[in-house]
Amino acid sequence: MNGQTDGVLITETGWITPVLSGLAGGRHRVWTPCGRTQDIAGGRFVGSVDFVLDPGHGGSEPGAVGRGGLREADLNLDVTLKLSDALIDAGYSVMMTRQTDVRVPIVTRAEIAQALDPIAFISVHFNAGTDAASTTPGTEMYHQIDSPDSKRLAGLVYEEALGVLDQFDIGWVALGDAGTLFRPNRAGGDYYGVLRRPAPVVSVLAEFAYLSNPAEEQLVSDPAVQQMLADATVTAIERFLTTDDPGSGFIDDPIFRGYGPSGAGRTTNCTDPPLE
Ligand SMILES: [Zn+2]
Repeated sequence: MNGQTDGVLITETGWITPVLSGLAGGRHRVWTPCGRTQDIAGGRFVGSVDFVLDPGHGGSEPGAVGRGGLREADLNLDVTLKLSDALIDAGYSVMMTRQTDVRVPIVTRAEIAQALDPIAFISVHFNAGTDAASTTPGTEMYHQIDSPDSKRLAGLVYEEALGVLDQFDIGWVALGDAGTLFRPNRAGGDYYGVLRRPAPVVSVLAEFAYLSNPAEEQLVSDPAVQQMLADATVTAIERFLTTDDPGSGFIDDPIFRGYGPSGAGRTTNCTDPPLE
């Protein structure tokens, strides 16, 4: 069913539901958070926005958890809320795939992007999985393999985010190919559902820093640093829209990261919340 919706309904209970069709009496047939079809009353319809922002994980899917206890889902939400505010201040319209600590499967996040046909979809994450010491941040900015616009936007967000983080003299961790990169699946398409499923919407997956590294966990728990990352992302977006700057950090031959299941964001065992 992916891609059959047009616009979203913000339900009276606060969920973002892609609209399959309008119905008599002001009701709407919507794509529920669990990817089912439901007819509901009330809510507020939004036809399109400039940017769809996606705070990764949420609810029963905390994502990475730092040794100090910081949950990636909460950090992603805090940074994305700051990014949303900054974009709105700059005059853009924005929709977030979630605004609270709730589970939203990746297929639904992607459907929200397709329903709103934005300039770009940006998924905000923090990483885990290496303890290889580095003198520079291990920021990874993933782009869609077949989209030059995704690649350029990712390169610009990478450049601006690195400019913020590299000011801090802490013990970073990084993989050897940290930068602006891509990850293929077995078929040569995009491995990550947040890049593959929203296509043709231009999409970027940001892994700003390693939450699994206590020094980085402490740094990014600071709201001022979160604000700097949000502002850096807005600067990257404005450069994407107003210049031909190519971005930087491009890795032509990324380390093989495997074809295994990414684990999170499926609709398995999904229980829909009350939508009206
Ligand atoms: Zn994540």
